[in-house]
Amino acid sequence: MREILFRAKRIDNGEWIQGYLWSGNDSSYIIPHSLGINYYEKEKRMMAFSSEVNIETVCQYTGLADREGRKIFEGDVIVIPHSDKKGFPAEVRYRELDSWFCIDRTNYVPISLNGVQYWGEVVGNVFDNPELIEWRRRRLGATEGKGTGKGRYLAMPLVEHVRKPPKYWMKTSCPICGRECWDGPLPEGITEMMFVGKLCTTCAMQMAAGRG
Ligand SMILES: [Zn+2]
Repeated sequence: MREILFRAKRIDNGEWIQGYLWSGNDSSYIIPHSLGINYYEKEKRMMAFSSEVNIETVCQYTGLADREGRKIFEGDVIVIPHSDKKGFPAEVRYRELDSWFCIDRTNYVPISLNGVQYWGEVVGNVFDNPELIEWRRRRLGATEGKGTGKGRYLAMPLVEHVRKPPKYWMKTSCPICGRECWDGPLPEGITEMMFVGKLCTTCAMQMAAGRG
């Protein structure tokens, strides 16, 4: 049987958790496969270890792994090293229209995950690293300019969020907090001239919120 697996962020600590998904009317839970469900003889009932999760972050496992053997989930960001767009990061999505997991490249036709174990590399996910995706980055940029009068900052993914970046990304440090982050090529249509500076994701978002 195909492995049915979900992941989502826990409400209590924001950490990712994987397992079975149980959704009620106004709350959702993940039951990890490893801990699972136990039957308690004395109480005559089943008990499940579970964590309440944020429904907005629920992602399903695609059944496939990248070339490093990492499981690929909906919401993951994959770089396509051998495509015409060298290293173009794109998002794994579930398309309801025709019921398939695919790589959604916005403005381009979605592509199949066929053979992804040979060419694909997961570099993050859209929840922890929205700056990796062009349209999400644009949205961050748009938020950043709004009302603060501070201009737009380009967000660089933190090294702790993206442990295995594509080869051509370079390590640098955030000029505000000094944390290590990645500097990489910008998507087509985006240039550094469009930003007043480059900061780590956290600082860029704080500047956007006017707390910088
Ligand atoms: Zn920073």
